[in-house]
Amino acid sequence: EQREPVEEVRPQSPVKPMTATEVKVNVSIPEAAERAAATGADGVGLLRMEHMIMSTNKTPERYVADHGVEAYVDEIIDGIQRVAEEFYPRPVRVRTLDAPTDEFRQLQGGGDEPEEHNPMLGYRGIRRSIENPETFKHELEAFRRLWSMGYDNVELMLPLVNDAEDVVRAKQLMVEAGIDPAKRKWGVMIETPSSALCVEEMAEQGIDFASFGTNDLTQYTLAVDRNNGRVASRFDELHPAVLELIGSTIETCREHDVKTSICGQAGSKPEMVQFLVNEGVSSISANIDAVRDVQHEVKRVEQKLILDDVR
Ligand code: PEP
Ligand code: MG
Repeated sequence: EQREPVEEVRPQSPVKPMTATEVKVNVSIPEAAERAAATGADGVGLLRMEHMIMSTNKTPERYVADHGVEAYVDEIIDGIQRVAEEFYPRPVRVRTLDAPTDEFRQLQGGGDEPEEHNPMLGYRGIRRSIENPETFKHELEAFRRLWSMGYDNVELMLPLVNDAEDVVRAKQLMVEAGIDPAKRKWGVMIETPSSALCVEEMAEQGIDFASFGTNDLTQYTLAVDRNNGRVASRFDELHPAVLELIGSTIETCREHDVKTSICGQAGSKPEMVQFLVNEGVSSISANIDAVRDVQHEVKRVEQKLILDDVR
């Protein structure tokens, strides 16, 4: 099991500054919940579900075949609950399963995964969830139960959506799983150029938030494989094309009362923080070790904005 190394919150800036832009934290594994909560972050901007499943060393389908649906749902509930409890009442945004088939193939049951030439362009995220609603509904059942247990700080986030059609289908599946989307906080990740360009139609479907997954948004906008070292120097989250998509999405979301956020790695970079705060993003989610620095950078940019306004 891959535990993150324990590191103290930086001693030189012990005070959390007050900011209008919320600063949240990314949590990769439930075991990091305590350390993440200790940063004073305003919530969790991204809790990835796949680690909860992949740590069992089985694909979801194999896990269910071996141990049954109840055990599978409990596995997800345990992982989310640990973080939701630690952060309560601060919000915890949980992303439904998003692993490419080449990662699932490493696990028990991986032999049943489809062969793909381009797994990053293939069967992952919401695409898999829509194609394979059985497994997705087990995830939704975990959300339903957590909400009925009183963890109303849990929010549901859909990965790799392209357009309103993906959102409509996901919403139907939520309803079929006994969830009333109008009563819960849920939203989408903006990870493909298509999702950025179609965000208005998605907003009309009642999403509460849109969160930039800049790792994928950069990969797909620039057509640069995020895992290919040969083209790593071309992977630029601050590329004007990426920033254009982010900026226009924030503007559209503001018009529709949809919150915006970033949960990709770039949220920990000062240049991205400056851009996002100037654009009026609602929240920034950073890695545990970067939260305090991001809080101070947000404060600095916000103060400059106020001064510029006065002058
Ligand atoms: C992203 O794409 O920026 C993101 C946060 O998701 P992941 O890195 O898990 O693909
Ligand atoms: Mg992603």
